[in-house]
Amino acid sequence: MPTLPQASSEPWPIAAKAAPLVDPFGREINYVRVSVTDRCDMRCVYCMSEDMNFLPKRDLLSLEELDRLCSAFILRGVHKLRITGGEPLVRRNIMSLFRALSRHLESGALSDLTLTTNGSQLADHAAELAAVGVRRLNLSLDTLDPAKFRAITRWGDHARVMAGVDAAQKAGVSVKINMVALQGVNDQEIAPMLEWAHGRGMDLTLIEVMPLGKIEAERADQFLPLSLVEARLKERYTLDEIDYRTGGPARYVRVAETGGRLGFITPLTHNFCEGCNRVRVTCTGTLYMCLGQEDAADLRAPLRASTSDRLLHQEIEAAIARKPKGHDFIIDRGQTAPAVARHMSVTGG
Ligand code: SAM
Ligand code: SF4
Repeated sequence: MPTLPQASSEPWPIAAKAAPLVDPFGREINYVRVSVTDRCDMRCVYCMSEDMNFLPKRDLLSLEELDRLCSAFILRGVHKLRITGGEPLVRRNIMSLFRALSRHLESGALSDLTLTTNGSQLADHAAELAAVGVRRLNLSLDTLDPAKFRAITRWGDHARVMAGVDAAQKAGVSVKINMVALQGVNDQEIAPMLEWAHGRGMDLTLIEVMPLGKIEAERADQFLPLSLVEARLKERYTLDEIDYRTGGPARYVRVAETGGRLGFITPLTHNFCEGCNRVRVTCTGTLYMCLGQEDAADLRAPLRASTSDRLLHQEIEAAIARKPKGHDFIIDRGQTAPAVARHMSVTGG
């Protein structure tokens, strides 16, 4: 199997390179999410329209360039890397990127190499992901009902995803289930999902739908505030606040009856920006300093302009220096334009 070349080394003062990335609000950026493709083998109704236009392949960063980009961030103190998409496991030869990045786990520079996946290809890759050092992953699953799963994902195969969950657990990779709460679609399935996930030793995180990209459905019809979900769950379960953090935006409780953890990601009802430690890079090398804002920096040009990483570091520093304080998502009935034009599959979840 091919391995990717190491990131370039160039004459540049180590002290300058190693300076951590701190934004104007004093937040240290130590977590990067990298979308390795905008393509996907599903078409979830809240994420994409059915006839999505994808980027031409020539616009994408090569796996070598993605490795170089990630390595530049790691040099600046990023110790958590999440590979996402689109569906990351549909990108051809993606395992070579995981294999290459695992050197940063071995060196100790990276503490966590993880991914977010829809699980469709996971059965084929779980063992190798575990072998290169992926200890945990997020798997998106909005229902346990195969027919409803098909309706939500349009193209997804529930059985394949279940096989993916089995394979990941068998390989010793810890799985967290991400479930987008959808009004009138899966609101009755939150308790069953919780029982199922906790019964298999998996955390469950609920996510509020965010107004990202144009889709066929009306966002206001999909939106289910998690404050409401939590209140309903409290009628049935004891939810104890806990101090558990994963480096992401979720707030966790422990469910006394199941012993498992339940997370809430509430960008709409409770803005989580004050503790934001992350930035996102798309598969074309566009750096977004905030999921909910349009401002971005092009990292592909400096990557391709020279084999030295000097320009790349300069561009990253300039971008972090203008990371905004936060997003201002709102979902209002009758509001036609999404808060942000790009889909979640572009920026990566
Ligand atoms: N394809 C992979 C998956 O589904 O896990 C990774 C990419 S997907 C964009 C990442 C996460 O974003 C998934 O958990 C998905 O449910 C979530 N997501 C997509 N669109 C969303 C939206 N508009 N609001 C909230 N979450 C969204
Ligand atoms: Fe694909 Fe993930 Fe978006 Fe669903 S949420 S369409 S699986 S990228």
